[in-house]
Amino acid sequence: EDYDLGFDFLFKISVIGDAGVGKSNLISRFVSDTFSLDTKSTIGFDICNKIYDLDGFRINLQILDTAGQERFRSTSDFLFRFCAGIILVFDITSKTSFQGLDFWIEEIYKSAPDSAIIFLVSNKHDLANDQGTFVITDEEITHFQEKHPKILKIFKASAKENMGIKETFHELASTILQKE
Ligand code: GDP
Repeated sequence: EDYDLGFDFLFKISVIGDAGVGKSNLISRFVSDTFSLDTKSTIGFDICNKIYDLDGFRINLQILDTAGQERFRSTSDFLFRFCAGIILVFDITSKTSFQGLDFWIEEIYKSAPDSAIIFLVSNKHDLANDQGTFVITDEEITHFQEKHPKILKIFKASAKENMGIKETFHELASTILQKE
């Protein structure tokens, strides 16, 4: 078979947020449609590429996952360097992960290019359907976005049920492409 690995654009996308919010699973859903119950224990970055057809262009989405190094300041430079898009993830059932967004936003302001497109994703919405489960409210999320206008869009997702993920990456890639 003839593998054509050529592409028209390379967009680096950094997926960030506290440990356990589901970053790896969101990425593996998008890249290979898989989901895992295990939490990874890798130290370092995971980088994967997905060639993606969009508006007649072949886009190479280079997706960075912060494996096991959450909240390590020293990694930010590499994580954000030349990145075109940032997906900031929290767990809709975890107040800690929502509060953790403040840290990540600071990192973005400090190290990410001004031109980077930033989306916010609340993950694990499958859990939010259970009666009585604690969830971060829409009001809290909207309030957070108002404080940080650099966040362009907000998406609801579940890596477990494969919800909202294609939409997030597609919209991000489209938004970046429109600026090119
Ligand atoms: P990361 O540390 O942010 O990369 O998080 P992982 O992708 O390793 O996921 C952490 C844990 O949350 C694992 O046990 C996953 O199976 C679980 N998880 C991830 N996404 C979801 C989701 O959408 N729904 C549910 N119920 N669990 C999830």
